[in-house]
Amino acid sequence: MKKLSIRDLDLKNKRVLLRVDFNVPFNDDGTIRDDARIRAALPTIQYILDQGAKLTLMSHLGKSEGSMEPCKKRLYELLARDDVTVLENLRHNKAEKDPDSNPEFAKELATHGDVFVNDAFGAAHRNHSSIVTICQYFPGKCAAGFLMEKEVDALSPLVENPTRPFSAIIGGAKIDSKFNVLQALQQKVDHLFIGGGMVFTIMKAMGNSIGNSIYDPAHLEVVSEFIDEAKNLVLPEDIVIAEQFSDGAETHIVGYEEGVPDGWQGMDIGPKTLEKWRPLLHESKTIFWNGPMGVFEFPNFAKGTEGLAKMLAEMNSLRIVGGGDSGAAISLLNLNNKFTHVSTGGGASLEFLEKGSLPGINALTNKF
Ligand code: AMP
Repeated sequence: MKKLSIRDLDLKNKRVLLRVDFNVPFNDDGTIRDDARIRAALPTIQYILDQGAKLTLMSHLGKSEGSMEPCKKRLYELLARDDVTVLENLRHNKAEKDPDSNPEFAKELATHGDVFVNDAFGAAHRNHSSIVTICQYFPGKCAAGFLMEKEVDALSPLVENPTRPFSAIIGGAKIDSKFNVLQALQQKVDHLFIGGGMVFTIMKAMGNSIGNSIYDPAHLEVVSEFIDEAKNLVLPEDIVIAEQFSDGAETHIVGYEEGVPDGWQGMDIGPKTLEKWRPLLHESKTIFWNGPMGVFEFPNFAKGTEGLAKMLAEMNSLRIVGGGDSGAAISLLNLNNKFTHVSTGGGASLEFLEKGSLPGINALTNKF
């Protein structure tokens, strides 16, 4: 990485301001559902404390509400000490997301440290006060933490010179938020596999019937042009359809060409799809996967996502999972150690692949 590393800073007796991504999921009763993001920052936190520095942490949590208290408590348990300052949820202040609305906010945050370390890879694609604006107040002293370095080191081979064949598998529902990535990836990969809800915008654009499946009318035209040009798309072979959007709904499997009948909706990729995809994935030397293949929150429609996770877990190639729901599915199946890297950032890893860097990385001090 061509940016200053936390190892390059003399931290003894310094006040370190560390940006982390503690945006963890919660259960309905307010307890933390998965503390993986807190654990992922521990090597950096421990290193800073071991260097004899005074540490202040900051993170956002959820959209805007929510207190950092449960995360702070969990952190103190994991560290078995409680002398780390944790600032309140950054998004309590509107200027976190909109730095121009109050440039003083970043300046105030900067008063908490002599040096700044960013370990929040999962938020590094955001042009926010605590990610980008803050760096101007630490000239020559903005470093990447260990998690940030690990993520960049793991994802860079995909951007710079991937070993081919290179395949990307993209799922999830929102074609609007992933269309730019699809376009960028399509230029870079040998095979672009598509699953999840975004399949139905493509299916409709190809003139196939999609019943009540979700699709994005605003993207039909661009998707239509995209599929005309993209010769390396690999689409599902079959689709699991349901009569209603519920786990207990009656299901059938239809062929992709056959389409989804009226009154039904596509919920998952079918079993023939994975069988068709297997050889191409098997011969791939580099694989990137982001996004579920179906409505995996319902066990009945999680088979495509789980089947893909298990299939990839058995392969030997460089396999990287771009966080988010696909990362969660892998954790749930306890398959993390079967992959080369499971990123902590969904949106961040996609944008890194698309653009080759992220605003929060660019803002760090260059290393000469
Ligand atoms: P995204 O944030 O774009 O990665 O989308 C993730 C969401 O896509 C998950 O909550 C899935 O339930 C949803 N999803 C995946 N496949 C489908 C589908 N066929 N129909 C509706 N939603 C889907």
